[in-house]
Amino acid sequence: MGRTLIIAEHDGLNLNAATGKTLTAALAIDQPVDIAVLAADADAGAQAAASLKGVETVFRVERPENEHPLAAMLAPQIADLAARYSHLLMPSTTYGKDVLPRVAALLEAPQVSDVMDVIDAHTFRRPIYAGNVLTTVKAPTDCPVVATIRPASFAEAEAGGNATIEAWQSDQTLPTHTRFEQLHSAQSDRPDLQSAKRVVSGGRGVGSAENFDVIFRIAERLDAAVGASRAAVDAGYVSNELQVGQTGKIVAPSLYLCFGISGAIQHLTGIKDANLIVAVNKDPEAPIFEVADIGLVGDLFEVIPELEAALSQ
Ligand code: FAD
Repeated sequence: MGRTLIIAEHDGLNLNAATGKTLTAALAIDQPVDIAVLAADADAGAQAAASLKGVETVFRVERPENEHPLAAMLAPQIADLAARYSHLLMPSTTYGKDVLPRVAALLEAPQVSDVMDVIDAHTFRRPIYAGNVLTTVKAPTDCPVVATIRPASFAEAEAGGNATIEAWQSDQTLPTHTRFEQLHSAQSDRPDLQSAKRVVSGGRGVGSAENFDVIFRIAERLDAAVGASRAAVDAGYVSNELQVGQTGKIVAPSLYLCFGISGAIQHLTGIKDANLIVAVNKDPEAPIFEVADIGLVGDLFEVIPELEAALSQ
């Protein structure tokens, strides 16, 4: 029987929700699962990973170079550890997409990207053509299966685990050509777009960066993350980390509320796992109404104040 290794995504203290969803996918492969936490100090991350149900062993992979998640530093260590596994998984987040292809190259294995369904240990379903086609792919059996897991397609992992925690160190010499310089990251009190339960998005119909205030206001009311279409991002209304869609973030909230978004296929790719899509658009023919669970034909600048008034009652 094979064995699966998951590389945890974490912020030094907490695991990202995507790691738990990757565990759900791993358990569907139906073989033992271990998790590795790479960090300078992996204590908190390892404890969090050990508490997830279904994990057997958690490896603390500690090295000063692991303080910042640099793919060039992490990949040789992961490849070293993964060499004894039949399966190696990471979430298909920015982190997983950055690190795993390097590991796959080191293991001389092809990578299966964006797995949305596990059929059996070597057969997976994944989207192609911006999610318009779902394809079933078979990974080769003569090398490890290396795959990124689409978090939006899998449920959260359950708590209640009690895995053994072990220290593990690679004796790989790490590259010297890459080093951490500095991190620029947007600070926000808002929920993270990719894991938010509610998302409020605005499109080109919002009209300007100033007008986008109405989207931020209603998001605040609903304790929701803010998203945007690519047209809104390209027009400079909001920064590009808010973009939802094929070339932006894939979201899977319980509620996706969108204003002034037409519903182009590249946008819909990013929201197809949302439970309830509510669209407000002044054009009754807008394609977004074909996928919306609730559609309202109207001007967003009239609808939003009405919605705010209703919410404050
Ligand atoms: P539009 O299509 O211009 O729609 C604006 C809508 O607002 C219209 O339906 C209009 O009726 C409505 N509106 C106007 N005023 C109001 C008002 N006052 N009240 C209510 N409604 C109003 N797009 C993405 O979003 N994400 C991606 O990741 C992405 N990736 C792409 C990748 C590729 C390779 C390509 C080619 C395109 C990609 N796009 C992506 C772009 C996509 O094709 C669309 O151009 C884009 O989604 C359109 O954004 P929009 O709906 O905001 O703008």
